[in-house]
Amino acid sequence: MKRVLNFSAGPGVLPVPVLERAAAEMLDWQGQGLSVMEMSHRSDAFIDIAARAEQGLRTLMGVPDGYRVLFLQGGATLQFGMVPMNLRREGAGADYLDTGQWSKKAIEEARKSGPVNIVASGAASKYTCIPPRGDWACDPAASYLHYTSNETIGGVQFHHVPDAGAVPLVCDMSSDILSGPVDVSRFGLIYAGAQKNIGPAGLTVVVVRDDLLGRAPKSTPAMLDYAVQAASESMYNTPPTWAIYIAGLVFDWLQDLGGMDEVARRNAEKAKVLYDLFDGTEFYRCPVASADRSVMNVPFTLRDASLDEPFLREAEAAGLQQLKGHRSVGGMRASLYNAMPLSGVRSLAAFMCDFERRHG
Ligand SMILES: *Cc1c(COP(=O)(O)O)cnc(C)c1O
Repeated sequence: MKRVLNFSAGPGVLPVPVLERAAAEMLDWQGQGLSVMEMSHRSDAFIDIAARAEQGLRTLMGVPDGYRVLFLQGGATLQFGMVPMNLRREGAGADYLDTGQWSKKAIEEARKSGPVNIVASGAASKYTCIPPRGDWACDPAASYLHYTSNETIGGVQFHHVPDAGAVPLVCDMSSDILSGPVDVSRFGLIYAGAQKNIGPAGLTVVVVRDDLLGRAPKSTPAMLDYAVQAASESMYNTPPTWAIYIAGLVFDWLQDLGGMDEVARRNAEKAKVLYDLFDGTEFYRCPVASADRSVMNVPFTLRDASLDEPFLREAEAAGLQQLKGHRSVGGMRASLYNAMPLSGVRSLAAFMCDFERRHG
């Protein structure tokens, strides 16, 4: 069996021990004589799987009492719509920080339901840095303030939680959730599609403060109402059972590694391999401001764009896959999610140095 090094931005690499365990339990989950995929979501066995997954996430993130964990569907993209549907107070505006492609998608969707105030935008810098907090024009009466903690395409990441005052802070953490410790008590709501750093596509995690439930208008479809989902323990309809099971295994794996502090240490070490490489050459270039560089998604360009194609072809042949940058920005992007080992990043760096030697 041969496994490639998968640098995809999503769906991303999963931990081998998790895949091995899922494979071992595929035909007969813990003596039940069936796979998790075939279980009733109302069975004791599955209710226990879901409860353990929730507990795993709560422990890792240190989710305080007073917050609900929801396992939903529709991806982060559905949250772009659900957040304003549920949290917007009648007639009130919503504050959004614009740091790149994913922020813009969230903003577009929020505009459909009412006024949106862009507190600051990274557009002038071509989204290569986070606008300084002092320059944000926040509305103290906003229903909430939304930001994207890690721009998966641009490679810009917050390394701290911004101050939102008394306004509920809402964060799209799709591509850096569980990449390190975060103080959940600072947030009103956190959401993330699972397929970057949690598990299979099809699951969306929402962590929401109790007081923000029950604000959706009566006309809101049940499936899109956080309060309905919370009241039914995320089982208003059939949840994505398989994805929840795998997510639970990933949470256990992260805990076994040592929890969020250790995971953050590993991720910083991995990212440093590439950022140090960029600092020592003009052949490769990372456009992102040093202070805002992402540890999860590392975009870079080659000095000579005519080498892009041979770079990708040779990388692929060397087992280094999915390095092509997003179609909107071009160049390359290496995604270094939790399940990408340090040895994988070192292999990429060694390939890059060798490629430069041959083509530089
Ligand atoms: C991938 C991604 C999304 C979109 O996620 P879907 O689950 O495909 O809807 C939104 N925001 C960020 C930051 C992402 O990385």
